[in-house]
Amino acid sequence: MQNVQDTLKQIMNKRKLNHRFSEVMQQVYKNPDVIEFCQKNKEQLSQHAIEIGSSKLYEFVTEKNKLKNHQNNLMPGYEPKLVLSNHLIDIEYIPTKENISETKEKKRAKLVRSISMPKSLKNASLDNFYREPQREEALDLVLKFLEQYMDNPHTFVKGVYLAGSFGVGKTYLMGAMANTLADNGFETTIIHFPSFAVELRNSIGKLNNDVSAKIDAIKKSPVLVIDDIGADNISSWLRDDVLGVILEYRMQEELPTFFTSNFSMEQLEEEHLTINQRGEAEPLKAKRLMQRIQFLSQQVMITGKNHRFD
Ligand code: ADP
Ligand code: MG
Repeated sequence: MQNVQDTLKQIMNKRKLNHRFSEVMQQVYKNPDVIEFCQKNKEQLSQHAIEIGSSKLYEFVTEKNKLKNHQNNLMPGYEPKLVLSNHLIDIEYIPTKENISETKEKKRAKLVRSISMPKSLKNASLDNFYREPQREEALDLVLKFLEQYMDNPHTFVKGVYLAGSFGVGKTYLMGAMANTLADNGFETTIIHFPSFAVELRNSIGKLNNDVSAKIDAIKKSPVLVIDDIGADNISSWLRDDVLGVILEYRMQEELPTFFTSNFSMEQLEEEHLTINQRGEAEPLKAKRLMQRIQFLSQQVMITGKNHRFD
């Protein structure tokens, strides 16, 4: 085939089209997307094919312009794409970028249940997770989990216990993981544990309180992230009747469970789970809970820069 632009011009000249139509078609044949498409497929497109494809090309340009000018197009949320079908020009409608991100957002809203978590987590993504050597191990474990779990959600995969100081990105990483799971159709619950504890405590003593329903809903989540465990005092009640109950259930049902904490497992056990609010030591009960945490998750230290005030 000769030069594509010449061919398009020739088609215009050959057809004795009425003036108005010929003007319109001139715009169509000058459209950069049309030129690019014809150029790319010049081996397979005959002049005849381009001629009889003129209505498709016209539709393509008109619909594309409507999108550009924010007018209603034929299929809202979709944009036209020129394709070759049996050596002829055809149009496919594919979802627009906005449509795709809106669908993602809706999916996330449905599949990521977050309790007292920052709204910004909605946009956390593994692709944007800061890559620094001190974070690689944590990221690796999360990626490994995702691969195994999404491949086979019915076999037990250990979660991760992310230990590290403020601002290193523990919560961000968990949010990014939950979003990835949601994008692939899996449900996660992320709870900010200290806030959840306050919420539970406040509803106790109220008539028709729904404490056990709240605990129930959380313990059954397909994937659970308990964020910031140890940031506030953990009373014996929280340890045994809330965390204990949730984790016991998840162990038995083999449900993936994640933790983030400013403390290592050892510190959590000794400094936050052992001494009760009356100042008495309960090392056995602390150990019992810690064994559940260890059954459910693998500890990884995450260090690095504090990104909180970036
Ligand atoms: P931590 O939970 O370890 O205290 P956060 O996850 O809250 O730390 O992260 C600290 C800050 O860094 C937050 O404001 C978070 O949104 C921000 N942040 C932004 N982008 C990233 C990223 N790509 N990786 C890690 N943290 C990020
Ligand atoms: Mg955090």
